[in-house]
Amino acid sequence: MGDRVNRGLSRYDVIVVGAGPAGSEAAVAAAGRGASVLCLTINLDTVGFHPADPTLLRGGDDRRRLLVAELQAAGAVLPRLLSRKEIATEAGRHLVADRRRLGLAFKEILENTSGLEPRQALATAIERHGDGWHVECKYGERFAAGSVVVATGTFLDGQVTMGGLTADGGRRGEIPSRALADCLQRLGISFTRLVACASPRISARGEPSSHLRLARDGDQLRELYASEIKLEGDSDRQLAELRSLARSGEAWLNRPSYCVSHLALAPGMVGNRLESRDLPGLFFAGRSAGVASYPEAAASGFAAGLAAVGAPPDRLTNDKKYVGLLCRRIAEGDRPVSVNDH
Ligand SMILES: Cc1cc2nc3c(=O)[nH]c(=O)nc-3n(C[C@H](O)[C@H](O)[C@H](O)COP(=O)(O)OP(=O)(O)OC[C@H]3O[C@@H](n4cnc5c(N)ncnc54)[C@H](O)[C@@H]3O)c2cc1C
Repeated sequence: MGDRVNRGLSRYDVIVVGAGPAGSEAAVAAAGRGASVLCLTINLDTVGFHPADPTLLRGGDDRRRLLVAELQAAGAVLPRLLSRKEIATEAGRHLVADRRRLGLAFKEILENTSGLEPRQALATAIERHGDGWHVECKYGERFAAGSVVVATGTFLDGQVTMGGLTADGGRRGEIPSRALADCLQRLGISFTRLVACASPRISARGEPSSHLRLARDGDQLRELYASEIKLEGDSDRQLAELRSLARSGEAWLNRPSYCVSHLALAPGMVGNRLESRDLPGLFFAGRSAGVASYPEAAASGFAAGLAAVGAPPDRLTNDKKYVGLLCRRIAEGDRPVSVNDH
């Protein structure tokens, strides 16, 4: 439990904002080094959630596979979960995950890690107080910590576009993180914009045409992710296009394609340990730090979690390691950041 200080304010060593792969890894890594950690998330039912393609590693992702191997050697969560057959399987040259089981397993680990408190709350402000930080949440909760890791994914000032219409949203059906985006900009953090798009999910009913590359989206449900199709326009137009591509009038769109545009850290804002150059104790990881993919989000979260508790950086982040390469690219490289060659 965090220590209670003045006016009921709970104090932690580290507060992690976000519980996607980046935030979850950061929180577990910091707690594993003996720190008291609060992990905030907008929705505790979507911990570790993967929003789109269940294919986590593709055939050509050699460097990403090496990145995951480094994480495994360092004791991170993601490789442990991906080695469980009910969570991930090799299909051809791809590693395909059951997204719901992956998320649930991340949540179980957050719940069972000693020194770590997961908490559902929308962080709206991060303020400097003495040599630490206060985090304020939407319903007035305030927490204090020595370090804060921002791992807010696609939610910072997120805008969802589908069929030519744009509305505020962190992912489809989820709220964005607007006040926190404004607050970070007031603190002097510069951002760029990234866009992430999801292919459509289609129904397995009607036996969709076998020439489409379809990934079974978990074994409990009859949804298929059409990873190579990007449909445009409103849902009627997308359905018509799908039926033409599938050569079947029976093909059915469960979830149309959509895109999210969001703020991500600009190059030059953090150093190689993912700590703000101007605001000591403030760290960034994951998609909000500009990374491209789920494994890279987990890797940067793990590195930020260690750095936030002052763990020595050399073993994982030295020049020869892909985690190190990823962190250097977050510090200075083009967006989106990947360990793959540009
Ligand atoms: C439509 C779409 C398609 C994508 N397609 C792919 C793909 O095919 N392959 C791939 O690898 N990646 C894809 N991505 C990128 C994907 O988001 C990342 O790979 C991965 O999920 C990023 O992990 P993360 O932990 O950085 O952020 P996320 O997984 O986005 O998690 C962010 C976390 O922060 C929390 N949060 C945000 N703001 C606040 C706040 N103010 N207070 C408290 N909690 C907050 C959220 O609740 C969530 O828990 C896609 C993303 C989207 C949106």
